[in-house]
Amino acid sequence: MNEDKTFSFELFPPKTEKGFEKLKATVRTLNERQPAFFSCTYGAGGSTRDNTFATVDWLRSEGIDTAPHLTCIGNSITETLAILKRYKAQGIHRIVALRGDRPSGTGVGGGDLAHASELVTLIHEHFGEHFHIEVAAYPEMHPQAPNFLIDLGNFRLKIEAGANSAITQYFYNADAYVHFVEQCRHREIEIPIVPGIMPITNYSSLVRFSNACGAEIPRWIRKRLEAYGDDVESIRAFGLEVVTGLCEQLLTAGAPGLHFYTMNQAEPTLAIWDRLDL
Ligand code: FAD
Repeated sequence: MNEDKTFSFELFPPKTEKGFEKLKATVRTLNERQPAFFSCTYGAGGSTRDNTFATVDWLRSEGIDTAPHLTCIGNSITETLAILKRYKAQGIHRIVALRGDRPSGTGVGGGDLAHASELVTLIHEHFGEHFHIEVAAYPEMHPQAPNFLIDLGNFRLKIEAGANSAITQYFYNADAYVHFVEQCRHREIEIPIVPGIMPITNYSSLVRFSNACGAEIPRWIRKRLEAYGDDVESIRAFGLEVVTGLCEQLLTAGAPGLHFYTMNQAEPTLAIWDRLDL
């Protein structure tokens, strides 16, 4: 049933040697599951540039299919094109094209390109069909969008500019995804929209992330997690049950794959993977 689906793992570039060694072990473990690709995030304005390059270089040296993320705010077109040329020379064929956020949490200020759709256009203009372009999608709406329909219209701009597929922000409500995909199909947006999956391992960091990116933690999940306090084992066990159930619902509803936000840890993603028997 899942043979034709795309499963992928997201990493972030470590800042320290120790973190990098941990990342290598994580990738080696996860790679045994033969994902379609590993993606690696990129800090807006180039804040993680060297560490992203180091991670991508290592992944490529291991012969692993890699999809670097690339953000456009705060960067000049010249810098952006230089990065894309570097990736092309490394045999990379997939890019996750994003706007990025300023440290203030907004997308305001600096650079030649203001929106991800402009980055997609730029990639197409200079590289034709060389790169498979992934873009971000927001089933629960991008937090800065004035409303859902405007956000959907802006999502459409990325597809019209030539995006090939999308990965969603994480969410814990399968209906939000199903509704979003339905709305896309009504507008003849036919590209694959792969749900982004965030394992639940730590309540306070989940709340922090979710507040920043506009992902809703449903009340019943929040209340259960709150009640566990510092009981990490119970949080993980409950998180595993919730997220595995979510993945099952999404795959049954026709999701074309799953993209796991691994947070550079193998175990939480593998636990879900194995329960799903992918
Ligand atoms: P856009 O598609 O440009 O949209 C951003 C906002 O602008 C939306 O509100 C949209 O409605 C609006 N908008 C878009 N086009 C227009 C227009 N023409 N006119 C007016 N409004 C418009 N961040 C990082 O810094 N590094 C990463 O590596 C990274 N990886 C990510 C991976 C995934 C799968 C996801 C879902 C997010 C990732 N992010 C990353 C976060 C992302 O950068 C932020 O969510 C950012 O706020 C929006 O990026 P975007 O590409 O969706 O922007």
